[in-house]
Amino acid sequence: MPRGVVPRQPAKTGRQDRAMSLRPPKKIVRATPGRAGRGVASILGAGNVESKRTMRPRKGYNPLAREREILKRLDQLYPGATCALKHRNAWELLVATILSAQSTDVGVNKVTPVIFAKYPTVQDFAALNPEQLEPDIHTTGFFRNKSKWVVGAAKKIVSDFGGEVPSEINQLLTLPGVARKTANVVLGTWFGKNEGIVVDTHVQRISRRLELTPNEDPKKIEQDLMQVIPREKWTRFAHQVIWHGRKLCMARSPQCAECLLENICHAADKTWSTVEIHKNAK
Ligand code: SF4
Repeated sequence: MPRGVVPRQPAKTGRQDRAMSLRPPKKIVRATPGRAGRGVASILGAGNVESKRTMRPRKGYNPLAREREILKRLDQLYPGATCALKHRNAWELLVATILSAQSTDVGVNKVTPVIFAKYPTVQDFAALNPEQLEPDIHTTGFFRNKSKWVVGAAKKIVSDFGGEVPSEINQLLTLPGVARKTANVVLGTWFGKNEGIVVDTHVQRISRRLELTPNEDPKKIEQDLMQVIPREKWTRFAHQVIWHGRKLCMARSPQCAECLLENICHAADKTWSTVEIHKNAK
């Protein structure tokens, strides 16, 4: 077990906590910000009892050691994790990501080869009325809105960006149907740019279980994650967590007994645990 993990684990007996409470009060020192910004203890919020306890100065304590351990174990579990949406270029990835809202990647991967065979270029999509695309994407759900977004995005890419999907986040965010999550997928996966962290339902759930954020709002979660995950790992981290959410850390009945992160995870909804449960970690 690497050093830096064990000190963050509460004693199973509770004796350690009791012993700490009997010591004379010490001056509280905030967790020292590391190269990526704040430590996780400081983003957990002043009202969180656990965060106050973990913020006590400890000999040899490194506020980012746990985050590094999480990243290391995700690398072990999912070394080649990447986007599961089939695509051959930035436009196809953009369309697939728009269609993936409230749908599964498997479902989207059945639809996209058909529509890209029918309409091979962004110009072909720009020439459509949204109603013409609706039958082809019907199975992905919310097809009326998605048709408007895809055709609208194609028209804007042709009229404003010379037919090329822009590689700047501010430009991507001007396209219909493109919010930060979609923009981050395209920038990270196709353009290799770490401009943000994709926060989908898996990243949202698992980041809370692993106490990387106390927030529920995806925008706030992304900001919290950007503080504790090194920038060069933002895209890979999101892909790995998404795979973890599909394979082991499902919303219902996570497979904790098989999880490599088990002894550093204190999630309240674990199905099996060797460590103390934190009621807010869910
Ligand atoms: S131990 Fe369970 S809840 Fe924690 S990350 Fe693993 S599967 Fe998810």
